[in-house]
Amino acid sequence: MSFKGPQIIVIEDGALSELETLMKDYANPICVTDDLIHSEYSQRLENAIGKPCRWLMASTYRANTNTVLGNVDIVLGFGGGSSLDVAKLISRDTGINWISIPTAASHDGIASEVASVSHNGYKYSEKCKSPLAVIADTSIISKAPPRLALAGLGDIICKTSSLAEWKLAHEVKNELFDDEAYTIVKKALESVFVSDSLETLISAEIDAGRAMSIFGSSRPCSGTEHAISHAMDRSSAELHGLQVAFATPICLHYLLEAGCTDYKPGEILSFMLERQMPTTLSEMKISPEQFIDSIHHGLNIMEKRNRYSVLKHLDVDDNSLRSAMADLGY
Ligand SMILES: [Zn+2]
Repeated sequence: MSFKGPQIIVIEDGALSELETLMKDYANPICVTDDLIHSEYSQRLENAIGKPCRWLMASTYRANTNTVLGNVDIVLGFGGGSSLDVAKLISRDTGINWISIPTAASHDGIASEVASVSHNGYKYSEKCKSPLAVIADTSIISKAPPRLALAGLGDIICKTSSLAEWKLAHEVKNELFDDEAYTIVKKALESVFVSDSLETLISAEIDAGRAMSIFGSSRPCSGTEHAISHAMDRSSAELHGLQVAFATPICLHYLLEAGCTDYKPGEILSFMLERQMPTTLSEMKISPEQFIDSIHHGLNIMEKRNRYSVLKHLDVDDNSLRSAMADLGY
């Protein structure tokens, strides 16, 4: 098996204590975080690493401006998505290694080499590098708002759509494919259907990130459901994982029509309802027109990225979209 992704992964109650050994090789850490995590956990982190740390609030970071780092020799990302993204970007720009210390299980970027960057209201991906280690302390992550883990679960169950579409795109359009990455994501996906433990979810997120590193792009984990979500960002402030899950049943509807999914949209919808994820337009606070517009826009995003969409494969029009939305209870 090729070896890509974090070299050390610890998922356990009290995992923070692993940092002491890890940090022995480094003298000057910088830790990227947010105000809330800083006020709650900064002392605990410094105790764990056994030395004082320079702190940088993710909200004060500006891309393409040189953050003065001096003799910093390791970057710690300690927090949610934006803290980890800034740690990734600093690591990429300086060549210094970074360690991922997530405080929530809200998405599959906790161990990935891809940072999500916002520009003019759009989010796009920037390739960075994988973390040296992922230290997931469940005593901290379990205290995050439950909706964050729900979003993380959404970012895994949407792989029902991304994986099937990736395979279709490979078969029809000869898009690059990788069996190892496919199998890793498939196992991660299956794991969250049989266990609802936080450890399983975190492990699935890390594996999804590892698969993206092995393949070299987000394609195994990101299909039309992700492109629709990126388009929805213009009118919705909902969490990424809940958006991608929301867009999954309609993608599965067409994947089923194309005969290339193991999962029926109804099964995923039942699972989402059971876990109390938003499944209707009113819960997402968007209109049918906004959703259809997001689907069109998502298809443009897919095209720009040279990714083949099942909706394009079936030449889906607005009448078909409206009828699928009605059938699926959107
Ligand atoms: Zn995602």
